[in-house]
Amino acid sequence: MLPFSRITIIGLGLIGSSIARAVRVHMPTARLTGYDADPDVRAIADRIDLCDDITDTAGASVIDADLVILCVPVGAMGAAAAEIAADLPADAIVSDVGSCKEAIAAALADALPNATIVPAHPVAGTEQSGPEAGFATLFHGRWCILTPTAQTSAAAVERVAEFWLKLGADVETMAPDHHDRVLAITSHLPHLIAYTIVGTASDLEEVTQSEVIKYSAGGFRDFTRIAASDPTMWRDVFLTNREAVLEMLQRFSEDLTALQRAIRWGKGDELFELFTRTRAIRRGIVEQGQDDAAPDFGRSHQ
Ligand code: NAP
Repeated sequence: MLPFSRITIIGLGLIGSSIARAVRVHMPTARLTGYDADPDVRAIADRIDLCDDITDTAGASVIDADLVILCVPVGAMGAAAAEIAADLPADAIVSDVGSCKEAIAAALADALPNATIVPAHPVAGTEQSGPEAGFATLFHGRWCILTPTAQTSAAAVERVAEFWLKLGADVETMAPDHHDRVLAITSHLPHLIAYTIVGTASDLEEVTQSEVIKYSAGGFRDFTRIAASDPTMWRDVFLTNREAVLEMLQRFSEDLTALQRAIRWGKGDELFELFTRTRAIRRGIVEQGQDDAAPDFGRSHQ
C-alpha cells in the first residue's frame, strides 16, 4: 500500500526532478504530475518523460492530487502555494523541500490556511540545477527532516515520513527553529565561507587567476564545488534564515579571530589540538555513511 497515489511536484529542478525519478523507481504505480513556472523547463520535463503529465498551470497540476510537493526556491514558496490555493483538494497534503523551515511554514500557512501542511527538507543535493541534473538515488541514505507545527496531524506526518522512507531516505522530525539553527551551521555557513574564499581568491591581484586554478588541488577546489551552487537558491536561503546564519557567523568570526591569534603568537599546540578534534569529526561523518571514505574524496585520477 503506497502512502500516496496521485503525486504532484511543483518546480522541476534538481530536487523536484530527483523526487519524480525516485517516485518512478520506488512507487511505479503512483500517478505523477509536474508543473514548473518556466516553459522551457516544462518542455524539457516533457521530452525526458519525467512525469505522467506536465500541466501548463499550477492549478491544473493539483486538481486530483493527494500529495503536492513544492520544490521551488525558498523565496518563491509563498507565491507557489498561493497559485494552487483555489484548486487544491480538501484532503490533499502539501509538503515542500525548502532549505529553511520556519519562514516557509509561515508562508505556506498564510497562503493555504485550510490545508494540511507537512514541511520537509531532504538534506541531499548537488551544485547542479535544472530538470536534467536530477537522479533517482539522490536521497538514498540521506536524512529528510520533517518540521511539523502544533497544527500538523500526526497521521499526515506519518504518511509523509513513509513517502521519504520509500525513496530511500532516513527520516527525522524536528522543530522548525531548531532545524534552521542546525542547518545554519552544517550547510548555510559552509556555503557562505566557500562563496567568500572563492570570491577573495578571484579578487587577489598578486596571485593570478591561472595560478588559482592551476594549484587548486591544494584545497581550493573543494570550496569551488560548493561555491558553484545555484545563486537564486542561496540568495534566498541567506535572506530567509538571516537570524540563525548571523548568529553562527558571529560565533565563527570569534573562533577565526582566536585562530588568527594562535598563529600570530606561535601557539602550535592550540592549532594542533583543534586540527585533531576536527579530524575526528570527519571520521564520524565517514563512519555514518554520509561521505566517501576513499582518499581525496573518492576522486578518480585516471
Ligand atoms: P532548481 O534546480 O533551480 O529548480 C527550481 C525550479 O523551480 C526552477 O525550474 C524554477 O524556475 C522553478 N520555479 C521558480 N518559481 C516557481 C513557481 N512560483 N512555480 C513553479 N516553479 C517555479 O532548484 P533546486 O536545487 O531543485 O531547489 C529547489 C528547492 O529545494 C529550494 O527550495 C532549495 O532550497 C531546496 N533544496 C535544494 C537542495 C540543493 O542542493 N539544490 C537541497 C535540498 C533542498 P526558474 O529557474 O525559471 O525560476
